[in-house]
Amino acid sequence: MIEVKDDWCKGCNICIDRCPLDALEESDKLNKRGVRPPKLKEKNECNYCRLCELICPDFAITVIPDKDKEKKLAKKTLLTPLGGKIK
Ligand code: SF4
Ligand code: SF4
Repeated sequence: MIEVKDDWCKGCNICIDRCPLDALEESDKLNKRGVRPPKLKEKNECNYCRLCELICPDFAITVIPDKDKEKKLAKKTLLTPLGGKIK
């Protein structure tokens, strides 16, 4: 889940432009600053890399990993220890 403090967003779109998985888009509504904050696309491949959270100059984004999705992604990674199980 991506939590956006809508009214903190200044609409620079860095998060949308830099998301490596093209998971973000502008929302339909304007915030108090008259810009459209980002939101996750309905169909997205967000892997909770947190890049958007880290690069937002206004600290408007918090990434809250979805534990179930995280487990599925982790099972596919080469970093999974040999013979190791992911709990
Ligand atoms: S990087 Fe931050 S300020 Fe810029 S559009 Fe995204 S949420 Fe808004
Ligand atoms: S956490 Fe990563 S993949 Fe997900 S929206 Fe942010 S930059 Fe994109």
